[in-house]
Amino acid sequence: MRVVELENIRKTFGKKPTGLRRRRASEVVNALCDVSLHVDRGETLALVGESGSGKSTLGRIALRLIEPDSGTINVLGRSVSDLSRSDLRAARRDMQMIFQDPFSSLDPRMVIGDLVAEPMVVHRIEPKADARRRRVAELIERVGLSVRHLDRYPYEFSGGQLQRVAIARALATDPKFIVCDEPVAALDVSVRAQVLNLLIELQRERGLAYLFISHDLSLVRVLADRVAVIQRGVIVEHGDTNDVYDRPAHDYTKTLLSAVPGRDPRRRKLLTSTA
Ligand code: ADP
Ligand code: MG
Repeated sequence: MRVVELENIRKTFGKKPTGLRRRRASEVVNALCDVSLHVDRGETLALVGESGSGKSTLGRIALRLIEPDSGTINVLGRSVSDLSRSDLRAARRDMQMIFQDPFSSLDPRMVIGDLVAEPMVVHRIEPKADARRRRVAELIERVGLSVRHLDRYPYEFSGGQLQRVAIARALATDPKFIVCDEPVAALDVSVRAQVLNLLIELQRERGLAYLFISHDLSLVRVLADRVAVIQRGVIVEHGDTNDVYDRPAHDYTKTLLSAVPGRDPRRRKLLTSTA
């Protein structure tokens, strides 16, 4: 089942004009140029490319956190391109995002229990307080934390623990689609495999569709079904993960792959490590 489909997405950013000076062509960034992609139920599409290539912009557009200049966005067979504000709010229930740095994506003034409960309150899921508390407890245990943690504040946690909180929060609305934007890049190497394994388990349990943004190609190889390679806002190559890695067609993909220390056998243990 097709969960998300983007067609011909374009986005330019212009620097805000300062003073009376007119905007020059060189100040306009073509962040995305005619990008199309889809993600099916239970599937991971990895979006790989250098910093500044447009990955986060595309992830945000898929969730309509920012508006494209043109193009269409379908979620669960329905166009979300021109939903009203309130219909968009309802549609957001099905799509969530996990950001790179949980220290900046989670409000430091809220306790963990409220952070996980907040999306339910916003979407009026489990309106009764004790049912909501039970669901928060289930979620926090599912991500490997404990109900003892619910009254604590983000500063009391490590990056890996906080990313688990962010995952519990993303799951609170029972979404179908999650954009994972470099979800382990900011974490200690020792906890990356655990967080990735958690994401993989949750995907299997719930049939989640992931758009997995990463510049770490060794990581993408083990967890993506398909890969889209983006260069300066253009998808230059797209295919099944093994095909792209074994027979990269585009020079840019070859360059990215040549920088991967993939021949190092220690790397292959990444997802089985329990360190
Ligand atoms: P990536 O996630 O691949 O590193 P981004 O999507 O963040 O790339 O950025 C793509 C391009 O768009 C970059 O050139 C970036 O500077 C520009 N860009 C992103 N967001 C904005 C914004 N809000 N205003 C102006 N330019 C932006
Ligand atoms: Mg980014």
